Amino acid sequence: MSGPDIYDRLGVTKVINARSWVTNLGGSIMRPEVFAAMEEAGQHFVDMDELMRAGGKVVARACAAEAGMITAGAAAGNLLMAAAAITGTDMAKVERLPNTNGMKNELAIFKAQRNSYDRTFETAGAALVEVGMPKAAAGYQLEAAIGEKTAGVVYVLAPFMERPLSLEETIEIAHSRQTPVLVDASAEVPPVDNLTRPVRIGADMVTFSGGKGICGPQNSGLLAGRADLIEAAYLNYLPLGAPRSGIARPAKVSKETIVGLITAIELFLETDHQAVWEVWRRQGQHIVDRVRAVPGLRVVIEESENRQGPQPVVYFEFDWKGPSPAEVREMLAEGDPPVFVGSGGYGDEINIPIVNVRPGEEQIIADHLLAALTGN
Ligand SMILES: *Cc1c(COP(=O)(O)O)cnc(C)c1O
Repeated sequence: MSGPDIYDRLGVTKVINARSWVTNLGGSIMRPEVFAAMEEAGQHFVDMDELMRAGGKVVARACAAEAGMITAGAAAGNLLMAAAAITGTDMAKVERLPNTNGMKNELAIFKAQRNSYDRTFETAGAALVEVGMPKAAAGYQLEAAIGEKTAGVVYVLAPFMERPLSLEETIEIAHSRQTPVLVDASAEVPPVDNLTRPVRIGADMVTFSGGKGICGPQNSGLLAGRADLIEAAYLNYLPLGAPRSGIARPAKVSKETIVGLITAIELFLETDHQAVWEVWRRQGQHIVDRVRAVPGLRVVIEESENRQGPQPVVYFEFDWKGPSPAEVREMLAEGDPPVFVGSGGYGDEINIPIVNVRPGEEQIIADHLLAALTGN
């Protein structure tokens, strides 16, 4: 590209993102086809409700659900799931949110799955009711937590997130009490199969980020599930002809975002994911090969549900004499260019998700990591 770089012009430093699809570093990078579709979408006016519904159909198909909707991210998906579960399609209730006095407004959530995003459920006016212990829960505890005021049960699928009961067991218990299960699966794709899994096993609604593994616009998301609940979600967004906007109006999506996400979903479904993983594996192996001989470290490639794609992990052994993991991270973040790596997971290991490492950047990461570890 020629001309001054837009980030240089703004005085904003470009960084290497070896920390995965984190919002703080910009989520993911859209493919050229997505940018092209967004540019094209921006040339015309359309009826936004019609476009939303067209996008919803793509989401429904991708998630093998009765219905779908495009949202301004999984956080907006959580807000809409909560609102839909509380109001259903009752417009009198829709218009009262976030005031839920007198409504079934409780959402059960496992204590073990509390996370920084669960405030997005409360934004709709829901009251979160914790179930179980910090790391576990029993079926009877969930049964006991579902009462007259329960509008739904929240389930969070995320790396390193506890699963105190399986999603299947949770669904079985909730459904035996006519209560819907709302799944936050924000960063669970790839693998691509995870798009259809929650609905296939009976979840009533599920949300995914569009701007993480799917590589759509950073502020986009998918919401899919039961037709009546998705209809309720639409009412809580932009109820056509109603005097008041829905509670989710601050989470609006643009025509460019909708078309961008549709394109990203289509590309994602067509992608040869095995080939992509093979590239990630090779990039990761380069880093492992460069630092594996440093004494006191155990450096491996890990692939598991807790790791997003194949990724190098540096474990610091008992005889490690160099800088602490925190100091290594700090040196990397203060380098030129700054390199941001993961903060471990099992302990204080350094993990290096490759999903956002652009071709060639693995060499810079390996150079900087080796220098930070060995001091030269
Ligand atoms: C990232 C994340 C979200 C928020 O997703 P956005 O698409 O950025 O709004 C919600 N829940 C979990 C578990 C996440 O990891």
